[in-house]
Amino acid sequence: MPENNKMPLLFLGHGSPMNAIEENQFVNGFRKIADEIPKPEAILCISAHWETNGTHVTNMANPPTIHDFGGFPEELYKVQYPAPGSPELAEETQNIIKHTNVSPDEKWGLDHGCWSVIKHMYPAADIPIVQMSLDYGKKPQFHYDLAKELAPLRNKGILIVGSGNMVHNLRMISWRRLEENFGFDWAIEASEKMKKYILGGNHQELINYGKQGSAFDLAIPTPEHFMPLLYVLALKEKDEKIELFNDETVGGSLTMTSVKITH
Ligand code: ZN
Repeated sequence: MPENNKMPLLFLGHGSPMNAIEENQFVNGFRKIADEIPKPEAILCISAHWETNGTHVTNMANPPTIHDFGGFPEELYKVQYPAPGSPELAEETQNIIKHTNVSPDEKWGLDHGCWSVIKHMYPAADIPIVQMSLDYGKKPQFHYDLAKELAPLRNKGILIVGSGNMVHNLRMISWRRLEENFGFDWAIEASEKMKKYILGGNHQELINYGKQGSAFDLAIPTPEHFMPLLYVLALKEKDEKIELFNDETVGGSLTMTSVKITH
């Protein structure tokens, strides 16, 4: 791939693991995005569902499909997404990050934050995937700064995907109304503010999400579903185009809002 042909950046709102096996507007949104962008050489995925002490990258040639959830139909546990890994990309990622020490991992694989969405984009499972973990001991600014070091990968055909949910409060979710696109007032307020900051390039307000008041406190009760967004935004260059898709609130307290950044 030519040096000036930068791969896009994606933040994907993954929502319920059931999106892996359902047909719905979100799944269609993931498919459409894959059709719109160049086919990547490999994918580096930062998933909300892999938090570690320190930063790790999956280093195996054949990462297992991890069913890291409970209480779902048997059908969901049978899903396999046999995309290969890429020890080469894992090594390169370790080498380009100077901000912290990145360790190779042989125990993880692909968690549902990764495979439940990427399987819709690339159903043939023919694109190598490396996951990079979130260091749970670090502040948002650390994640944002670390992400910036991944920039050279974009010139090498690597698609960087952050997978989480901007508004994600499972304790307040209305399971009865999960099929409906509705949001509690605080969820809508937080979502609208987040989108304003994202589209306006006001990243510092998002890094300082803990100081944005009660709507944000409810929207981000724990950081892990929000952090992958910071990785993607950190890599956006000044003149790049930013678009939202799957921009819906579900179950009251969860947004599926996803971000596409293109050069
Ligand atoms: Zn999740």
